Amino acid sequence: MNKETLAIHHGYERDSQGTTAVPIYQTTAYAFKSAKHASDLFSLQDLGNIYTRLNNPTTAVLEARLAEIEGGVSALATSSGQAAIFYAITNLVKAGDNIILSDKVYGGSVTLLKHTIKRFGIEARVFNLDDPSTIEALVDDRTKAIFYESLSNPQIAVADIDAISAIAQKHGIISICDNTVATPLLVNPIAHGADIVVHSCSKYISGQGLALGGAIIDRDGLTEFFKGSTRYPHFNEPDESYQGLVYTDLPFPPFNLRVRLALLRDIGATPSPFNSWSLIQSLETLSLRIEKHSHNALKVAKFLESHPKVFNLNYPGLEGNSYNALANKYFKDGQCSGLISFEVEDKESAWKVLDATKLFSIVVNIGDSKSIITHPSSTTHQQIPLVEQKKIGITEGLIRLSVGLENSDDLIADLKAALDS
Ligand SMILES: *Cc1c(COP(=O)(O)O)cnc(C)c1O
Repeated sequence: MNKETLAIHHGYERDSQGTTAVPIYQTTAYAFKSAKHASDLFSLQDLGNIYTRLNNPTTAVLEARLAEIEGGVSALATSSGQAAIFYAITNLVKAGDNIILSDKVYGGSVTLLKHTIKRFGIEARVFNLDDPSTIEALVDDRTKAIFYESLSNPQIAVADIDAISAIAQKHGIISICDNTVATPLLVNPIAHGADIVVHSCSKYISGQGLALGGAIIDRDGLTEFFKGSTRYPHFNEPDESYQGLVYTDLPFPPFNLRVRLALLRDIGATPSPFNSWSLIQSLETLSLRIEKHSHNALKVAKFLESHPKVFNLNYPGLEGNSYNALANKYFKDGQCSGLISFEVEDKESAWKVLDATKLFSIVVNIGDSKSIITHPSSTTHQQIPLVEQKKIGITEGLIRLSVGLENSDDLIADLKAALDS
């Protein structure tokens, strides 16, 4: 079946009431049928609900749908995208290990992966996303993950997923792709060799800025991968914290099994059933929305291209853009989602545009049906010194747009008035 259909129907069998919408199982715990049943669930002899920190029937529907539309074997939902990234990485590393990180990722991933987990003894080594061969020189036998974004926020760079996957496979290293901005409707990184996909569901999957959420999707075949690998012994050795359980000995996808049994159990960044339900509603319209976001953004980008006050316009859907070939190769029908960036002369001009727009709200989010305008230098990247900002392409005149679902003529008129003011 196609992704549009799966996003609406997969993973839900109507309950005894015939409920057509997925019910919200707003509960913390579940009654066991007997003492033996309880014991069997804890020892994985039987599978079922134990406690909502570990699993929940509403969240399970969200997970089943996300796994299916990403082309993975299982999914695990978390309370935020940040939690999903933290779990995906810490499922692989221990103190003394290193990870290889794209130079073009979300600000929260930079602070988490370069700074916060550095205090746990994990080193991040940075490669140039525009030249995946720069990964090679960074690999050693303590390298445990390669992390990048398929369509990066805020740089709007397109990753060469095949090239990164090939290097990861050559060295037997797990590659993790953050597919938040492109969404599973435009590209499935697993089909291009990625091992793990992570999402912030708070953005395009939610689509209306209604709920925070995250997800980890793992590919099929990781049991065989880990079994033959000396890089990740903790998947093949008894887990002392779980009565000597060996993850690759069980008939389940070992990556997400370990995240659930060890990391969710111990750290507990679980989604609320209500947020899972909200994201299920959103998934039903994701295919329509991503098409419209892409269509509107292309129209807005074409308008900006012709405006005399705009320079360094970046939208991969434009023919002259340096990522256009990669976008056409990887993204469905060359659609490029809703992010655009461009520069105006300086900070004063940029702030003037932000303050003059009426339809675009000054908000630090993306993927909302309502259009958003951001000045990264003074907000999302404020904590980074100006010279460092410049190195990663954040200038004081830079403006980022998240183009929403309004009529594109209205959006263009609003931007035109603001730029001409
Ligand atoms: C927003 C974002 C995140 C973090 O997600 P939250 O749900 O806000 O925690 C991670 N990656 C990308 C690409 C994002 O845009």
